[in-house]
Amino acid sequence: MIKSLLVYEIYLLKKNYLDKDEKTGDDMSDDKRSEEEMKMETEAVHASQDIDPTSRAVNPPINLSTTFERAEDESSQQRYIYSRENNPNRESLEECVARLEEGEAGIAFSSGSAAAMSSFQILSPGDHIICPDDMYHGIKHQIEAILERWGLKTSFVDMTEPKTVKEEIRPDTEMIWIETPSNPLLKITDIEKISEIAHENDALSVCDNTWGTPFFQKPLKLGCDLVVHSTTKYLGGHSDAVGGMLVVKKEDDIYKKIREIEVHGGACPSPFDCWLIRRGIKTLALRMQKHSENAMEIAKFLQEHPGVEKVYYPGLREHPGHEIAEKQMSSPGGMLSFRIRGGKEEALQAASDVKIFTQATSLGSVESLIEHRASVEGEANKTPEDLLRLSVGIEDPEDLIQDLDRALQASAV
Ligand SMILES: *Cc1c(COP(=O)(O)O)cnc(C)c1O
Repeated sequence: MIKSLLVYEIYLLKKNYLDKDEKTGDDMSDDKRSEEEMKMETEAVHASQDIDPTSRAVNPPINLSTTFERAEDESSQQRYIYSRENNPNRESLEECVARLEEGEAGIAFSSGSAAAMSSFQILSPGDHIICPDDMYHGIKHQIEAILERWGLKTSFVDMTEPKTVKEEIRPDTEMIWIETPSNPLLKITDIEKISEIAHENDALSVCDNTWGTPFFQKPLKLGCDLVVHSTTKYLGGHSDAVGGMLVVKKEDDIYKKIREIEVHGGACPSPFDCWLIRRGIKTLALRMQKHSENAMEIAKFLQEHPGVEKVYYPGLREHPGHEIAEKQMSSPGGMLSFRIRGGKEEALQAASDVKIFTQATSLGSVESLIEHRASVEGEANKTPEDLLRLSVGIEDPEDLIQDLDRALQASAV
């Protein structure tokens, strides 16, 4: 433990040394943009995308090397040593997402689940955490099947009611986990209020911002200490790379602990995946805008449709979380769910009758997806059997609406 922390301290020292070096202009790369104050759209394109000093390539190369040559005296005042610890593509992704989330540092992981796992691993056996009762089912499973065996204590509560969260606080509560909008009912949690409750009780507040993305929601500015992402979704945006990300508000001891867990736990992403996700982020601003516009049109269409019982979308005035969503989100996003008139059979029928939407799990990509969540989440879930979840893509909204209309007519009871 002491040895590994030492290794980590040396890594940080080297990194600081090199950062300083860059600022004095001794570094060879063209870092002319990194000190500029840029808007998010500009950061998404340019942050950590310096011209490659050897080839002058506009896009950074993919560095697949697992190891890097040592300096002659072996003291190695060098940034990269071994790729599990750090590599240029990972560093570029981390820096970019940290800037978008307005945090001091980012840590990239091999998946969103690994990012979540590593943030729970900073806790100790016996510590208590509070999570939403409709938390992303994969992470709920991680807690129940793995972490509870290691002594983590958990309460799953309805987080749309800050009072319920307050009542659940115990002397050993160390973390409150927020996920908003939630999956698949699009429930909205007041990030600012829940973070306040966490801090009044010396607990960390963490937000899974996979659905909001930094373009629509900034948890760190609303009081959270950590932000978690499945970059597999909107940040990557093309259903072709699995990844995760964690951004810290402060580069403090918590950050060091998580970096330690990543480096020594080994849940690091490949350089190629980092490169793909960083590339995906370049169009994030445009994609998010289109996802959200399309979702709003589809929500309005479904709301009026005789074959539809109920629509869950925070952009609709009727949605119970609409006001809080307006306060903390700049746009309601590209995800929505609806309940079909009928039941499980009609829902499954509609999901297989669509032609442009693909019946598949996951979300956040350019193509539209439809999914019967109750079938995916298994028996313990509480998702209604007549519910379908849509990840609305960036296609033409009229085409998407026609597709849904056709499927709903075919499945009508
Ligand atoms: C997909 C998802 C995760 C898990 O991410 P992976 O990259 O699949 O491990 C976590 N949280 C939310 C909200 C998700 O949608």
